[in-house]
Amino acid sequence: MTGQVEGKVALVTGGASGIGEAVVELLAKEGATVIATDVDELRGPDVVARLTKAGGKAIFLEQDVTSEERWAEVAAEIAKRYGRLDVLVSNAGIGIAVPSITDMTLADWRKQNAINLDGVFLSVKYSLPLMRKHGGGSIIMMSSLAGLRGAAGLAGYSATKGGVRLFAKSIAMECAAVGDGIRVNSVHPGIIDTPIWGKIPTGAAGAGQNAPIDPEERAKMATPLGRAGRAAEIASGVLYLASDASRYVTGTELVIDGGMNAGAVPRR
Ligand code: NAD
Repeated sequence: MTGQVEGKVALVTGGASGIGEAVVELLAKEGATVIATDVDELRGPDVVARLTKAGGKAIFLEQDVTSEERWAEVAAEIAKRYGRLDVLVSNAGIGIAVPSITDMTLADWRKQNAINLDGVFLSVKYSLPLMRKHGGGSIIMMSSLAGLRGAAGLAGYSATKGGVRLFAKSIAMECAAVGDGIRVNSVHPGIIDTPIWGKIPTGAAGAGQNAPIDPEERAKMATPLGRAGRAAEIASGVLYLASDASRYVTGTELVIDGGMNAGAVPRR
């Protein structure tokens, strides 16, 4: 099937890498006009250039999701260029792991909250008016399996992702209450092979003895399907939630985790 989001205008935060990059690519391929934003001013323009060369409609805007001032500018730019917003994928996020919560500095705790929670709050605050102008839209928030269950070494990350999960449900209820045609859902990836794993500090809990975390290695042991997921496999779920195929879906959570949340890894 093609053209599943034809004619829609979509904003994807954290669109320069990993899951965000795959989402930008798939939405553009399926006919959307995509605004990809990211702090990464090197990779972001490359992602968009590749797509436009292939005939896709996409632009890149540099954006730190923690800056309210920048959110106001990005929203104004979208209003000026397109006059509407149909899809928000609030995806930008980081993970900070520590051997014990007592090793977590307040500065890191706040940094993670700022990107993973403040950034999502601001994305909604500045996207809703653009969506309401045209009678509806779809908001997709990137949570995590860590937003559904605890993870040793990742308590701070889990707190942000659990927060995103209930924030999504609450905004879904708020939108339904006013009947503005906006649906809101969260996506919960398991272990996905993206650059995020290389950014998690060495020595984190579960990483082994000061070894960097290898997602493929970790997923082999921890995932019923026995492998890490691909960014494109998360993008397919996002596409479903962005498209009209999910028109009756709001306030729910889409878990894409190779079976991790379902139960213990079966004996192989
Ligand atoms: P990634 O590191 O490949 O991509 C994240 C992107 O966010 C990067 O391009 C980065 O520059 C951008 N970013 C970071 N801080 C930012 C800021 N302040 N403002 C704007 N952009 C910023 O990671 P990913 O794996 O693609 O992660 C995407 C999302 O998926 C995150 O929210 C992450 O928590 C979530 N997630 C990932 C996994 C996984 O296993 N990879 C699992 C569950 C959830």
